[in-house]
Amino acid sequence: MNRVYNFSAGPAVLPERILQEAASEMLNYGSTGMGVMEMSHRSKPYQAIIDSTEADLRKLMGIPDNYKVLFLQGGASMQFAMVPMNLMKNKVADYIVTGKFASSAQKEAAKYGTANIIASSADQNFTYIPDCSDLPISADADYVYICENNTIYGTKFKELPNTKGKDLVADVSSCFLSEPVDVTKYGLIYGGVQKNIGPAGMAIVIIREDLIREDVLPFTPTMLQYRTHAENGSMYNTPPTYNIYMCGKTFKWLLERGGLEYTGEYNRKKAAILYDFVDNSRLFSNHVCPKDRSIMNVPFVTGDSELDALFVKQATEAGFVNLKGHRSVGGMRASIYNAMPMEGVQKLVDFMHAFEKEH
Ligand SMILES: *Cc1c(COP(=O)(O)O)cnc(C)c1O
Repeated sequence: MNRVYNFSAGPAVLPERILQEAASEMLNYGSTGMGVMEMSHRSKPYQAIIDSTEADLRKLMGIPDNYKVLFLQGGASMQFAMVPMNLMKNKVADYIVTGKFASSAQKEAAKYGTANIIASSADQNFTYIPDCSDLPISADADYVYICENNTIYGTKFKELPNTKGKDLVADVSSCFLSEPVDVTKYGLIYGGVQKNIGPAGMAIVIIREDLIREDVLPFTPTMLQYRTHAENGSMYNTPPTYNIYMCGKTFKWLLERGGLEYTGEYNRKKAAILYDFVDNSRLFSNHVCPKDRSIMNVPFVTGDSELDALFVKQATEAGFVNLKGHRSVGGMRASIYNAMPMEGVQKLVDFMHAFEKEH
Protein backbone atom coordinates (compact mmCIF):
# COMPACT_ATOMS: atom_id res chain seq x y z
CA MET A 1 0.00 0.00 0.00
CA ASN A 2 1.36 3.41 -1.01
CA ARG A 3 0.30 6.36 1.12
CA VAL A 4 0.69 9.67 -0.70
CA TYR A 5 1.69 13.01 0.80
CA ASN A 6 -1.74 14.60 1.09
CA PHE A 7 -1.74 18.41 1.15
CA SER A 8 -5.53 18.71 1.12
CA ALA A 9 -7.07 21.71 2.89
CA GLY A 10 -9.73 19.43 4.34
CA PRO A 11 -10.77 16.75 4.87
CA ALA A 12 -7.08 16.28 5.37
CA VAL A 13 -4.28 13.96 6.34
CA LEU A 14 -4.57 12.21 9.71
CA PRO A 15 -1.76 10.59 11.71
CA GLU A 16 -1.12 7.17 10.25
CA ARG A 17 -0.84 5.66 13.69
CA ILE A 18 -4.38 6.58 14.69
CA LEU A 19 -5.80 5.25 11.42
CA GLN A 20 -4.05 1.95 12.08
CA GLU A 21 -5.33 1.88 15.65
CA ALA A 22 -8.86 2.54 14.44
CA ALA A 23 -8.49 -0.24 11.88
CA SER A 24 -7.35 -2.68 14.53
CA GLU A 25 -10.35 -1.76 16.70
CA MET A 26 -12.87 -1.76 13.84
CA LEU A 27 -14.46 -5.11 14.68
CA ASN A 28 -13.86 -5.25 18.41
CA TYR A 29 -13.21 -2.26 20.65
CA GLY A 30 -11.55 -3.31 23.90
CA SER A 31 -13.41 -6.40 25.04
CA THR A 32 -16.84 -5.19 23.92
CA GLY A 33 -17.13 -7.60 20.98
CA MET A 34 -18.29 -4.74 18.73
CA GLY A 35 -16.88 -1.76 16.87
CA VAL A 36 -17.31 1.82 18.11
CA MET A 37 -19.72 2.58 15.24
CA GLU A 38 -22.06 -0.12 16.50
CA MET A 39 -22.03 0.97 20.10
CA SER A 40 -24.87 2.71 21.95
CA HIS A 41 -23.93 6.25 22.83
CA ARG A 42 -25.54 5.61 26.22
CA SER A 43 -23.28 2.63 26.95
CA LYS A 44 -20.50 2.62 29.55
CA PRO A 45 -17.67 2.03 27.09
CA TYR A 46 -18.88 4.89 24.89
CA GLN A 47 -19.26 7.25 27.85
CA ALA A 48 -15.65 6.45 28.72
CA ILE A 49 -14.61 7.37 25.16
CA ILE A 50 -16.35 10.77 25.12
CA ASP A 51 -15.19 11.55 28.67
CA SER A 52 -11.54 10.87 27.91
CA THR A 53 -11.81 12.74 24.60
CA GLU A 54 -13.00 15.84 26.41
CA ALA A 55 -10.49 15.45 29.24
CA ASP A 56 -7.60 15.12 26.79
CA LEU A 57 -8.69 18.21 24.86
CA ARG A 58 -8.93 20.16 28.12
CA LYS A 59 -5.42 19.04 29.04
CA LEU A 60 -4.00 19.90 25.60
CA MET A 61 -5.46 23.40 25.44
CA GLY A 62 -5.51 24.14 29.16
CA ILE A 63 -9.25 24.82 29.03
CA PRO A 64 -10.40 26.41 32.31
CA ASP A 65 -13.30 24.90 34.28
CA ASN A 66 -15.63 27.77 33.45
CA TYR A 67 -15.62 26.80 29.77
CA LYS A 68 -17.76 24.01 28.32
CA VAL A 69 -16.61 21.76 25.50
CA LEU A 70 -19.33 20.76 23.03
CA PHE A 71 -19.19 18.23 20.20
CA LEU A 72 -21.71 19.40 17.60
CA GLN A 73 -22.89 18.31 14.19
CA GLY A 74 -23.08 20.52 11.13
CA GLY A 75 -19.39 21.30 10.75
CA ALA A 76 -17.98 24.78 11.06
CA SER A 77 -20.60 26.39 8.82
CA MET A 78 -23.41 25.58 11.25
CA GLN A 79 -21.63 27.82 13.74
CA PHE A 80 -22.02 30.77 11.36
CA ALA A 81 -25.71 30.63 12.42
CA MET A 82 -25.46 29.23 15.94
CA VAL A 83 -23.13 32.00 17.10
CA PRO A 84 -25.52 34.89 16.30
CA MET A 85 -28.66 32.96 17.28
CA ASN A 86 -27.21 32.26 20.72
CA LEU A 87 -25.10 35.33 21.42
CA MET A 88 -26.90 38.24 19.74
CA LYS A 89 -28.69 39.54 22.82
CA ASN A 90 -28.52 43.17 21.61
CA LYS A 91 -28.72 42.01 18.00
CA VAL A 92 -25.41 43.68 17.21
CA ALA A 93 -22.06 42.07 16.44
CA ASP A 94 -18.79 43.26 14.91
CA TYR A 95 -17.10 41.17 12.22
CA ILE A 96 -13.55 41.34 10.92
CA VAL A 97 -13.64 40.01 7.38
CA THR A 98 -10.36 38.38 6.33
CA GLY A 99 -11.62 35.89 3.77
CA LYS A 100 -14.43 33.77 2.44
CA PHE A 101 -15.32 31.95 5.66
CA ALA A 102 -15.39 35.17 7.71
CA SER A 103 -17.50 36.77 5.01
CA SER A 104 -19.96 33.86 4.99
CA ALA A 105 -20.22 34.07 8.77
CA GLN A 106 -20.90 37.81 8.59
CA LYS A 107 -23.57 37.37 5.92
CA GLU A 108 -25.27 34.67 7.97
CA ALA A 109 -25.23 36.82 11.12
CA ALA A 110 -26.77 39.71 9.15
CA LYS A 111 -29.94 37.61 8.86
CA TYR A 112 -30.44 37.79 12.61
CA GLY A 113 -29.23 41.25 13.54
CA THR A 114 -26.77 43.98 12.67
CA ALA A 115 -23.46 42.43 11.65
CA ASN A 116 -21.04 45.33 11.23
CA ILE A 117 -17.89 44.86 9.19
CA ILE A 118 -15.40 46.80 11.34
CA ALA A 119 -12.31 45.77 9.33
CA SER A 120 -11.63 43.92 6.11
CA SER A 121 -8.73 42.90 3.90
CA ALA A 122 -10.91 42.43 0.81
CA ASP A 123 -9.15 45.42 -0.84
CA GLN A 124 -6.03 43.28 -1.43
CA ASN A 125 -7.74 39.95 -2.02
CA PHE A 126 -7.28 38.95 1.64
CA THR A 127 -3.49 38.73 1.49
CA TYR A 128 -3.05 40.37 4.88
CA ILE A 129 -4.59 40.79 8.33
CA PRO A 130 -5.80 44.32 9.07
CA ASP A 131 -4.43 46.27 12.02
CA CYS A 132 -6.89 45.44 14.79
CA SER A 133 -5.34 47.38 17.64
CA ASP A 134 -7.88 50.23 17.65
CA LEU A 135 -11.03 49.33 15.74
CA PRO A 136 -14.41 51.10 15.99
CA ILE A 137 -15.94 48.43 18.23
CA SER A 138 -19.68 49.05 18.64
CA ALA A 139 -20.71 50.07 22.16
CA ASP A 140 -23.53 47.52 22.17
CA ALA A 141 -21.74 44.70 20.29
CA ASP A 142 -22.54 41.28 21.72
CA TYR A 143 -19.22 39.96 20.41
CA VAL A 144 -16.34 40.57 18.01
CA TYR A 145 -15.85 37.85 15.40
CA ILE A 146 -12.72 36.65 13.62
CA CYS A 147 -11.65 33.75 11.44
CA GLU A 148 -8.26 33.20 13.05
CA ASN A 149 -6.56 31.27 10.26
CA ASN A 150 -7.73 31.87 6.70
CA THR A 151 -7.54 28.50 5.01
CA ILE A 152 -7.91 29.75 1.44
CA TYR A 153 -5.61 32.78 1.59
CA GLY A 154 -2.93 31.51 3.98
CA THR A 155 -3.14 34.26 6.59
CA LYS A 156 -3.30 34.05 10.37
CA PHE A 157 -3.96 36.51 13.18
CA LYS A 158 -0.61 36.56 15.04
CA GLU A 159 -2.13 38.93 17.57
CA LEU A 160 -5.76 38.85 18.61
CA PRO A 161 -7.78 42.01 18.00
CA ASN A 162 -8.27 44.54 20.74
CA THR A 163 -11.98 43.97 21.37
CA LYS A 164 -12.19 46.75 23.97
CA GLY A 165 -13.75 44.42 26.49
CA LYS A 166 -16.19 42.66 24.16
CA ASP A 167 -16.17 38.88 23.93
CA LEU A 168 -14.09 37.45 21.14
CA VAL A 169 -15.53 34.66 18.97
CA ALA A 170 -13.04 32.81 16.76
CA ASP A 171 -13.35 30.26 13.98
CA VAL A 172 -10.15 28.23 14.38
CA SER A 173 -11.04 25.41 11.98
CA SER A 174 -7.73 25.41 10.15
CA CYS A 175 -5.42 26.24 13.08
CA PHE A 176 -7.06 24.12 15.79
CA LEU A 177 -4.35 22.63 18.05
CA SER A 178 -1.57 23.87 15.77
CA GLU A 179 0.15 25.81 18.59
CA PRO A 180 -0.46 26.82 22.22
CA VAL A 181 -3.52 28.95 22.90
CA ASP A 182 -4.77 31.06 25.80
CA VAL A 183 -8.43 30.08 25.98
CA THR A 184 -9.24 32.84 28.48
CA LYS A 185 -8.79 35.45 25.73
CA TYR A 186 -11.89 34.15 23.96
CA GLY A 187 -15.57 33.98 24.79
CA LEU A 188 -16.09 31.22 22.25
CA ILE A 189 -13.70 29.18 20.12
CA TYR A 190 -14.96 26.80 17.48
CA GLY A 191 -13.69 24.79 14.59
CA GLY A 192 -14.70 22.10 12.16
CA VAL A 193 -12.54 19.10 12.95
CA GLN A 194 -11.76 17.92 9.41
CA LYS A 195 -8.73 20.18 8.97
CA ASN A 196 -6.52 19.22 11.85
CA ILE A 197 -8.28 16.71 14.06
CA GLY A 198 -10.63 14.10 12.62
CA PRO A 199 -13.33 13.16 10.11
CA ALA A 200 -15.61 15.82 8.58
CA GLY A 201 -19.07 16.77 9.80
CA MET A 202 -18.43 17.90 13.35
CA ALA A 203 -17.45 21.08 15.12
CA ILE A 204 -15.94 21.45 18.56
CA VAL A 205 -17.17 24.50 20.46
CA ILE A 206 -15.38 25.81 23.54
CA ILE A 207 -17.63 28.35 25.21
CA ARG A 208 -17.39 30.33 28.42
CA GLU A 209 -20.27 29.30 30.65
CA ASP A 210 -21.87 32.72 31.05
CA LEU A 211 -22.36 32.86 27.26
CA ILE A 212 -24.60 29.79 27.38
CA ARG A 213 -27.81 31.74 27.64
CA GLU A 214 -31.50 31.04 27.95
CA ASP A 215 -32.44 34.28 26.20
CA VAL A 216 -31.34 33.20 22.75
CA LEU A 217 -33.15 34.60 19.69
CA PRO A 218 -36.72 33.34 20.08
CA PHE A 219 -36.89 31.19 16.95
CA THR A 220 -33.65 29.29 17.69
CA PRO A 221 -34.30 25.56 17.23
CA THR A 222 -33.61 23.36 20.25
CA MET A 223 -30.81 21.59 18.38
CA LEU A 224 -29.10 24.92 17.65
CA GLN A 225 -28.99 26.13 21.24
CA TYR A 226 -25.67 25.75 23.05
CA ARG A 227 -27.64 25.25 26.26
CA THR A 228 -29.27 22.08 24.91
CA HIS A 229 -25.91 20.47 24.28
CA ALA A 230 -24.17 21.86 27.36
CA GLU A 231 -26.88 20.51 29.66
CA ASN A 232 -26.72 17.09 28.06
CA GLY A 233 -22.99 16.48 27.77
CA SER A 234 -23.22 16.74 23.95
CA MET A 235 -25.72 13.85 24.07
CA TYR A 236 -29.08 15.57 23.69
CA ASN A 237 -29.48 13.35 20.67
CA THR A 238 -27.14 10.78 19.17
CA PRO A 239 -23.82 12.56 18.74
CA PRO A 240 -21.37 11.77 15.91
CA THR A 241 -19.98 8.92 17.99
CA TYR A 242 -17.32 7.61 15.65
CA ASN A 243 -16.08 11.09 14.86
CA ILE A 244 -15.67 11.91 18.56
CA TYR A 245 -13.75 8.65 19.04
CA MET A 246 -11.36 9.55 16.20
CA CYS A 247 -10.84 13.07 17.58
CA GLY A 248 -9.97 11.45 20.92
CA LYS A 249 -7.24 9.44 19.21
CA THR A 250 -5.76 12.59 17.70
CA PHE A 251 -5.74 14.28 21.14
CA LYS A 252 -3.87 11.31 22.66
CA TRP A 253 -1.38 11.39 19.79
CA LEU A 254 -0.78 15.12 20.35
CA LEU A 255 -0.34 14.68 24.11
CA GLU A 256 2.11 11.83 23.62
CA ARG A 257 4.26 13.75 21.16
CA GLY A 258 4.62 16.65 23.59
CA GLY A 259 1.41 18.71 23.53
CA LEU A 260 0.88 22.05 21.83
CA GLU A 261 4.24 23.59 22.79
CA TYR A 262 6.08 20.87 20.91
CA THR A 263 3.52 20.84 18.09
CA GLY A 264 3.72 24.60 17.60
CA GLU A 265 7.50 24.50 17.40
CA TYR A 266 7.41 21.58 14.99
CA ASN A 267 4.82 23.34 12.81
CA ARG A 268 6.80 26.58 12.70
CA LYS A 269 9.95 24.73 11.60
CA LYS A 270 7.97 22.74 9.06
CA ALA A 271 6.36 25.85 7.52
CA ALA A 272 9.71 27.65 7.46
CA ILE A 273 11.15 24.96 5.16
CA LEU A 274 8.50 25.80 2.56
CA TYR A 275 8.47 29.58 3.02
CA ASP A 276 12.28 29.78 2.89
CA PHE A 277 12.35 27.84 -0.33
CA VAL A 278 9.55 29.88 -1.96
CA ASP A 279 11.07 33.20 -0.87
CA ASN A 280 14.38 32.27 -2.49
CA SER A 281 12.88 30.69 -5.58
CA ARG A 282 13.07 32.35 -8.98
CA LEU A 283 9.95 30.45 -10.09
CA PHE A 284 7.61 30.19 -7.10
CA SER A 285 6.29 33.00 -4.95
CA ASN A 286 3.86 33.62 -2.10
CA HIS A 287 1.88 36.87 -2.03
CA VAL A 288 0.89 36.92 1.61
CA CYS A 289 2.17 39.72 3.82
CA PRO A 290 5.11 37.96 5.58
CA LYS A 291 4.09 38.88 9.13
CA ASP A 292 0.60 37.46 8.60
CA ARG A 293 1.57 34.12 7.08
CA SER A 294 -0.20 30.97 8.22
CA ILE A 295 1.87 27.99 9.32
CA MET A 296 -0.97 25.66 8.26
CA ASN A 297 -1.94 26.76 4.72
CA VAL A 298 0.71 27.96 2.30
CA PRO A 299 -0.48 29.29 -1.08
CA PHE A 300 2.08 29.77 -3.84
CA VAL A 301 2.15 30.45 -7.58
CA THR A 302 4.53 30.37 -10.53
CA GLY A 303 2.84 33.42 -12.06
CA ASP A 304 1.78 31.40 -15.11
CA SER A 305 -1.47 29.48 -14.81
CA GLU A 306 -0.44 26.85 -17.37
CA LEU A 307 2.77 26.19 -15.51
CA ASP A 308 0.78 26.00 -12.26
CA ALA A 309 -1.43 23.32 -13.82
CA LEU A 310 1.61 21.40 -15.06
CA PHE A 311 3.17 21.57 -11.61
CA VAL A 312 0.01 20.24 -9.96
CA LYS A 313 -0.18 17.42 -12.51
CA GLN A 314 3.43 16.34 -12.15
CA ALA A 315 3.34 16.68 -8.37
CA THR A 316 0.28 14.43 -8.25
CA GLU A 317 2.09 11.83 -10.36
CA ALA A 318 5.01 11.98 -7.94
CA GLY A 319 2.75 11.37 -4.92
CA PHE A 320 2.21 14.95 -3.68
CA VAL A 321 -1.54 15.32 -3.97
CA ASN A 322 -4.24 17.97 -3.49
CA LEU A 323 -1.91 20.90 -4.16
CA LYS A 324 -4.30 22.80 -6.40
CA GLY A 325 -5.18 26.19 -4.89
CA HIS A 326 -8.73 27.21 -4.04
CA ARG A 327 -10.69 28.23 -7.14
CA SER A 328 -10.98 31.81 -5.85
CA VAL A 329 -7.19 32.36 -5.77
CA GLY A 330 -5.82 29.80 -8.24
CA GLY A 331 -2.21 28.61 -8.15
CA MET A 332 -1.21 26.08 -5.52
CA ARG A 333 -1.76 25.63 -1.83
CA ALA A 334 0.01 23.23 0.48
CA SER A 335 -1.96 22.58 3.65
CA ILE A 336 0.53 21.29 6.18
CA TYR A 337 -1.57 20.39 9.20
CA ASN A 338 -0.33 18.64 12.33
CA ALA A 339 -0.34 15.20 10.74
CA MET A 340 1.88 16.25 7.81
CA PRO A 341 5.39 15.15 8.77
CA MET A 342 8.42 17.42 8.34
CA GLU A 343 9.70 14.88 5.82
CA GLY A 344 6.63 15.41 3.60
CA VAL A 345 7.35 19.14 3.33
CA GLN A 346 11.06 18.54 2.76
CA LYS A 347 10.28 16.13 -0.07
CA LEU A 348 7.79 18.57 -1.58
CA VAL A 349 10.47 21.26 -1.54
CA ASP A 350 12.93 18.87 -3.23
CA PHE A 351 10.31 18.22 -5.90
CA MET A 352 9.66 21.97 -6.35
CA HIS A 353 13.40 22.54 -6.64
CA ALA A 354 13.68 19.95 -9.42
CA PHE A 355 10.64 21.45 -11.19
CA GLU A 356 12.16 24.91 -10.97
CA LYS A 357 15.38 23.72 -12.60
CA GLU A 358 13.42 22.37 -15.55
CA HIS A 359 11.29 25.48 -16.13
C1 LIG B 1 -13.19 24.57 6.17
C2 LIG B 1 -13.55 25.77 6.94
C3 LIG B 1 -14.89 26.08 7.24
C4 LIG B 1 -16.04 25.26 6.74
O1 LIG B 1 -16.09 24.03 7.39
P1 LIG B 1 -17.33 23.05 7.18
O2 LIG B 1 -17.11 22.01 8.23
O3 LIG B 1 -17.23 22.54 5.79
O4 LIG B 1 -18.58 23.82 7.40
C5 LIG B 1 -15.12 27.20 8.01
N1 LIG B 1 -14.13 27.98 8.45
C6 LIG B 1 -12.84 27.71 8.17
C7 LIG B 1 -11.77 28.61 8.68
C8 LIG B 1 -12.51 26.60 7.41
O5 LIG B 1 -11.22 26.34 7.12
